Amino acid sequence: MDLGLADRTILVTGGSSGVGLATVRVLLDEGANVAACGRDAERLARAAATLDRDRLLTGACDVRDADAVRAFTERAADTFGGLDGLVNNAGQSRMKNLDESTADDWRDELELKFHGVLNPLHAARPHLAASSAPSIVNVNAVLAKQPEPRLITTSAARAGILNLSKSLATALAPEGIRVNSVCLGLIDTGQWTRRHAAAHTPQTYQDWQSHLATDRGIALGRLGRAEEAAYAIVTLLSPRASYITGTSIDVCGGVGRSIL
Ligand code: NDP
Repeated sequence: MDLGLADRTILVTGGSSGVGLATVRVLLDEGANVAACGRDAERLARAAATLDRDRLLTGACDVRDADAVRAFTERAADTFGGLDGLVNNAGQSRMKNLDESTADDWRDELELKFHGVLNPLHAARPHLAASSAPSIVNVNAVLAKQPEPRLITTSAARAGILNLSKSLATALAPEGIRVNSVCLGLIDTGQWTRRHAAAHTPQTYQDWQSHLATDRGIALGRLGRAEEAAYAIVTLLSPRASYITGTSIDVCGGVGRSIL
């Protein structure tokens, strides 16, 4: 099936690593124009060096900075003549329980998760509204439906974003803009290599991952690959998904226990 993404323009936040980078790669393979941002310009340049750069624009910006996000979004729309999709992917999780979480942790987490969606949304909205098939995908986590006490701030913020995504789908439907979520389980990216390094375990990364998959009860018995998440994101961006809005897809290898 042709996903109908050729020559469409998609902005991906956090496009220099992991799920975001895999999404950029799949979109380029589909013939889309891609604008990708992240905070670290060198990391972006290293990622771009592995990609076909003819249809790629990169820019360093922090999704918490509304002015920087707006400037990058305008540059993307000017460069490619509009915007058809937005992937709100930038972020990270905060491994802290209730007693470890300070007021600053709560404030920082809510700022990253909420403004990381709202800043790009406000900047992209007029351009998306002018597209013939606009779509927003919010990259979320199964934590949104299945909180973990060791990730208490992230779990709460994720639930809020899932709720917000539903409201956005309703609010933006009159403009033809679809809004959906992809809820990730454990995906093998920089997040997990960093945790393995921080654990100072004698286990190899491979053995540590296998143990993690068993410990967390992942039905498929392994962590997911970044491109497995990217395929779900790209499917929701496609005009072929034109009647799908206000919903979420779990990409989690069966770790999710929720039936809703
Ligand atoms: P990675 O750490 O591999 O990549 C994160 C990307 O986001 C990088 O490009 C990073 O670049 C960018 N980023 C982080 N903070 C900001 C910011 N404030 N402004 C702009 N860019 C930012 O993460 P993953 O690919 O694993 O995760 C992608 C998303 O999926 C995240 O939101 C994550 O929380 C979520 N998720 C991941 C899971 C997993 O198991 N991997 C599970 C559940 C959810 P830079 O650091 O240079 O800014």
